[in-house]
Amino acid sequence: MLVRAIDKELLDLLLEMGKSSFPDEYLVMLGMEKGVINMTYPIPGTSVSSDSANIFMDMIPLGMRIAGTAHSHPNGCLLPSDADLSTFSESGQCHIIVGSPFDETSWRCYDRNGNPKTLEVIT
Ligand SMILES: [Zn+2]
Repeated sequence: MLVRAIDKELLDLLLEMGKSSFPDEYLVMLGMEKGVINMTYPIPGTSVSSDSANIFMDMIPLGMRIAGTAHSHPNGCLLPSDADLSTFSESGQCHIIVGSPFDETSWRCYDRNGNPKTLEVIT
């Protein structure tokens, strides 16, 4: 199933989570229904620090319909880091980075190769 869009309420939540975890990063997995990203899965065992966030892929429950990941960049940079690129390549097709100041334009979506990806926002 191809990811084509994200639910506006979920996008707002991702931006809100960026604010509430500031100055730390957060990282969650994204789930989808019918090609629309509409839920998050916190991953137990996720390690978070101010400049990196890593998922332990073993911890992801079997059968989850993973669309990709979302995480925050408290410094406001919306480009993926080298560590991000390696995470992207092993965990789904759609990877969202939200950055400070976490307003409605403070996010980007990338594919698993780190190329910018267009995502429709559905209200
Ligand atoms: Zn990052």
